[in-house]
Amino acid sequence: MNYVAGIDVGSTQAKGIIMDEHGEIVGKAILDMETNMGTAAEKVFERVLANANLSYSDIAFTVATGYGRYRVTFGDLQVTEISCHARGALAEFPMTRTVLDIGGQDTKAIRIGNSGEVTDFAMNDKCAAGTGRFLGAASFALEMLLSDLGPLALKSTRPVKITTTCTVFAETEIIGHLAKGHLPEDVLMGMHHSIATRCASLVRRVGMAPEVTFSGGVSRNIAMVALLEEVLSTPLNVSSQSQFMGAIGAGLYALDNLQADRRSQHIEEGVR
Ligand code: ADP
Repeated sequence: MNYVAGIDVGSTQAKGIIMDEHGEIVGKAILDMETNMGTAAEKVFERVLANANLSYSDIAFTVATGYGRYRVTFGDLQVTEISCHARGALAEFPMTRTVLDIGGQDTKAIRIGNSGEVTDFAMNDKCAAGTGRFLGAASFALEMLLSDLGPLALKSTRPVKITTTCTVFAETEIIGHLAKGHLPEDVLMGMHHSIATRCASLVRRVGMAPEVTFSGGVSRNIAMVALLEEVLSTPLNVSSQSQFMGAIGAGLYALDNLQADRRSQHIEEGVR
């Protein structure tokens, strides 16, 4: 059996998957980003190999994607996150025509045509207000785990309006609202609202068409899923694999290359 790997080196977390030659995922790993992206890529690769109970020599082809894809020295090919998220989303939800990927520092809306090709995309500008980083600021200010933010926000009955659009000032604004006696859940819901509104406008920019698939780490946040569904007036496809969509897309590109290599070997053998 041959195996391929997809490594997604993001700004916040590195994700890795290993697939067998039938496209079945046999290993997954995720790691918080380190200062050195190359080291993080190597570590996530080691972890995903251990998770799949395989060794380096078992991997026939590796595709790297994400912000740090050029730091993956062991990668055979680099593919953009846009292509990889689109590919991963289509593999899991074949009727996907729009992808919203909210990661740690950037957000992308991707429009997919009827043949599965990327027809348009839009990205947040340099500002990280509509990204996971805004939630990171909230988790820091409230001293809460990222995984607890969504469930607490959903308890809100009187969301506070967040006025800052700058991640740097978000923490100060949160602390200010708490000092005035607002409940943490109401402040948090305000933060979620602010992100959802920004992301929805990106989705509209590419001409949203159903089905819409939500990928990236922020799709793990249940309040963000609920709010985006409300703001966009459409259900969103979300799965337990959503944070791995980019890595899965990379794995599928690796599989294409493995199959293309095999075809050319057959042709060469036929010629001989
Ligand atoms: P990148 O590819 O840019 O590194 P990811 O797509 O991996 O980003 O998403 C990272 C973001 O996902 C974090 O900034 C955080 O907001 C969110 N996130 C990560 N884990 C969780 C979790 N368990 N619950 C909710 N949100 C999460």
